[in-house]
Amino acid sequence: MSNFVDEPPLSLDGLQPSDIPSPPQSCLRIVRAASEEDFSFNNIAQMISADPAFTSEILRTVNSPFYASNGPVATVNRAVFMIGGRSVRNLALSFSVRESLRSSRIPQMFMQQFWRQAVLRATTCQQLAMAMGRTDAEEAFTVGLLQDVGFMVLLHLRPSRITEWPQLMEMAPAERLAAESSLFGLTHVDVVSVLAERWGIPASLTQPIMHHHDVDLAQRPPSDLACIAHAADLACAVYACSDKAGALKAFEDFLATRGFGKDMVEGILEQVSVRSESAAAALGISIAPAPTYEQILFAANQTLMTISDREEERAQMLQELLREKEQLAKQLERTMSSLEEMAYLDPLTGLANRRRFDEVFLRQVTRAHKEGLQLSLILVDIDHFKLVNDTYGHPCGDNALKAVANTLMRSTRSTDHHARIGGEEMAILLLGAAPAVGQNIAEKARLQIVNMGFAYHGIEIPVTASFGGVTLESTSPLGAAGAPPELVAARMMQAADAALYLAKQGGRNRVKWWNSTVLAS
Ligand code: GH3
Ligand code: MG
Ligand code: MG
Repeated sequence: MSNFVDEPPLSLDGLQPSDIPSPPQSCLRIVRAASEEDFSFNNIAQMISADPAFTSEILRTVNSPFYASNGPVATVNRAVFMIGGRSVRNLALSFSVRESLRSSRIPQMFMQQFWRQAVLRATTCQQLAMAMGRTDAEEAFTVGLLQDVGFMVLLHLRPSRITEWPQLMEMAPAERLAAESSLFGLTHVDVVSVLAERWGIPASLTQPIMHHHDVDLAQRPPSDLACIAHAADLACAVYACSDKAGALKAFEDFLATRGFGKDMVEGILEQVSVRSESAAAALGISIAPAPTYEQILFAANQTLMTISDREEERAQMLQELLREKEQLAKQLERTMSSLEEMAYLDPLTGLANRRRFDEVFLRQVTRAHKEGLQLSLILVDIDHFKLVNDTYGHPCGDNALKAVANTLMRSTRSTDHHARIGGEEMAILLLGAAPAVGQNIAEKARLQIVNMGFAYHGIEIPVTASFGGVTLESTSPLGAAGAPPELVAARMMQAADAALYLAKQGGRNRVKWWNSTVLAS
């Protein structure tokens, strides 16, 4: 809220009754006369008749549905007699206050809004007083009507604060009291005594108004007028605050401390809804009818629902984000593993590639060393492959390569490792295979290639391959643990390659096995 350095905060010491808007003097006299214990009806009626404005006011009021008279009341005498001195005093008082405030510079629209709230408080006070068995519901009504009028006086004294109006009007009572204190330096309660003096408000009304924000209200009996006024403030907040649910709960909670349940809350608000419009009309104020209890509940639920809807929306969004995150993580995992596969697999044959083979080879050597196992390595090279390409075309060569790779896989155990390590060169690692076993497997594979019956576009093309192998044994020079795996692998590759060379030299389509003794450091 803005701070006005050029305007000092208000203080009670500096506040004079003349600072307060002046009441119509004739009304003031009526208020004082009607407050006397031994007032005379005739005397008061005469005073009223001398004031044309108040005369029409009182006649309009007694003829309004609020008083529900039997037939029209045409004379002031009858009006006074009908409603009684106390009501005349209250009418004169509220008329006087409304007339006084008319001279302030508060915009008409705000003035109307204030009086609407004042009528809602007044009606609540009246209904609560009746519900609590008080016989002076009219007094309670007037307390409700005037209990916050000090707020308008504060604005009259500091009109620059009018910009805060919309905010102030939506605040809960305690919140607004604190805001008044910081905005004006005084609250609507602080100025009550000055107002009382200026406007002739009798002590019976001033007392509850002065105390309706006291913190120790709980110690007073529930039917105490200050308590009732406090409750009316809370009820008014139900209509005025945007947080309907919060305001309704505050009203319910306060009535609960006074021993009343929700049925009382419902009953009071229902009555306010039915009666406030005609009560306002009786005062010459036109207000929109107050919402029904059902409408209030609906609005309160709406605010609650918007809050929980928003929470639900947020929770759903979070869930969706988490799901999305999980999906992305899975997708990433799949991508990673397929990338990994791509990095290790030969796309043409589906065999492990050279990189993968080198890694596996080192691991197998280490394992063989550690577990005292034999490790056989077979190199396979397709015979005259260049010729296949040259004769039938490169795509045919590709198919032949795939066919050989498949045959190799089928002719060996699934635990063996196969790889394409060069153009048309493949390798097989057989852990735990002795030279004879390795040679056997190679021979079996060779025969299967011969017999695989490779054909391309209906033409059968004979495909053969040569095999060179070597076995690492614990007895061989590099077979003992401690020999560097890289060196062992390199020597085994050289030996198998040499055996393959011998197979080629020997006429191809054959297996050559190199003795492990060649595996020297
Ligand atoms: P040898 O029996 O002595 O091994 O004769 P070769 O023709 O198989 O040997 P050489 O090393 O002369 O030729 C290998 C050929 O393999 C050359 C190359 O075009 C072919 N080749 C290598 N990789 C591929 C491939 O991925 N697809 C096809 N279609 N051919 C390939
Ligand atoms: Mg108040
Ligand atoms: Mg070849």
